[in-house]
Amino acid sequence: MMAKMHSPLRRQQSGEPIPDPALVTGANGYVASWVVRRLLERGFDVRATVRDPADPRKTEHLLAMAGELPGTLSLFRADLMERGGFDRAMAGCALVFHSASPVVVRGVEDPVRQLIEPATRGTRHVLEAANRTPSVRRVVLTSSVSAIYGDTRDLGRIEADRFDESHWNETSSERHLPYSYAKTEAERLAWRIAGKQDRWDLVVVNPGLVLGPSLDPHSSPESVQLMRELGNGSLRLGVAHVEFGIVDVRDVAEGHLRAGLIPEASGRHILVSETMGLPEVVQILRSHFGSRFPFPRFTAPRVVAALFSPLLGVPRKLVWRNAGHPLRFDNAYAKSDLGMSFRPAEESIVDHFRQLLDDGLVEEPGRGR
Ligand code: NAP
Repeated sequence: MMAKMHSPLRRQQSGEPIPDPALVTGANGYVASWVVRRLLERGFDVRATVRDPADPRKTEHLLAMAGELPGTLSLFRADLMERGGFDRAMAGCALVFHSASPVVVRGVEDPVRQLIEPATRGTRHVLEAANRTPSVRRVVLTSSVSAIYGDTRDLGRIEADRFDESHWNETSSERHLPYSYAKTEAERLAWRIAGKQDRWDLVVVNPGLVLGPSLDPHSSPESVQLMRELGNGSLRLGVAHVEFGIVDVRDVAEGHLRAGLIPEASGRHILVSETMGLPEVVQILRSHFGSRFPFPRFTAPRVVAALFSPLLGVPRKLVWRNAGHPLRFDNAYAKSDLGMSFRPAEESIVDHFRQLLDDGLVEEPGRGR
């Protein structure tokens, strides 16, 4: 895990740094689209992998950005499950941002096939491609706080009063929180592969629940789903007091770029602005958008939430281990190592919901009927 100091910037004869090409995997995703945008703003030649470059719903927002920003963009087809699929896109790149990974937290039927294999094999395929590509000097992996902790009650099992980068999720499994298990296994694997060579270094970012505006009007990642459900009445009766570490998607993109571009950056980085319970999120939404929306009205005590959760397809164990337990993160290392500052969660929540309204993904009561 030892960090080496490689600069991803070459120097022109004039002394001006010019960026080498950078690869972004899963470039059409909610988080990665913002990483692509920031790279294009800085004049990078961005190699973007997507599963189907011919699908305009996945690529048109990326192409539109490239049309108006200084950098250049090329699209490549790559699937996490295909060995060798990333080599062509990576050729000549100094920087690799590996963000692609399935994000499915509900209704998972086959956790190994849907989550664990794509996350771990995909990480292996991308990092082995980095081993075969002499130009690569740094890989930034999009991990998650899900690789730091499993259930919120895990906080009671550590000595510190908050999670930091020294903590690893030891409680998730194929059956319990398989998304978190997949992210943990993928990050562990990445550190093992990185530790066996010394040409490129690995820097990891561990974002919390990512909120904020999406650059892709067609995208519907899990965090967008949550905001939609809060606004469209699906959770009208109430929510449990489950806490999340919230971070803005624009800050997550900035964290990726800093992790890629700061030569001395090293290790894991918790990207969380602040921790908030679902009832506080609802309170913010109600105070900004008024009570005309069917926002959840009550906070269900843990025992009540556990009683009714199976009706909503949520395992009782999940509620028991997560509702009503405090969650805290220490984001000091991201601030010192990457110089990060974070938008307040309120801004992310409000901007996110406003965009869902503008895009018609949450219907304003009384409109359009
Ligand atoms: P997203 O919009 O669903 O993006 C996921 C990306 O992974 C998409 O581009 C998807 O491609 C790609 N992908 C999935 N399976 C693939 C496969 N077999 N082969 C190739 N590409 C595949 O979700 P996101 O929120 O931006 O997530 C991006 C990264 O951030 C993930 O690593 C995720 O674990 C991490 N993260 C997200 C959050 C959050 O709250 N959103 C928090 C912490 C960490 P398709 O569009 O073709 O499916």
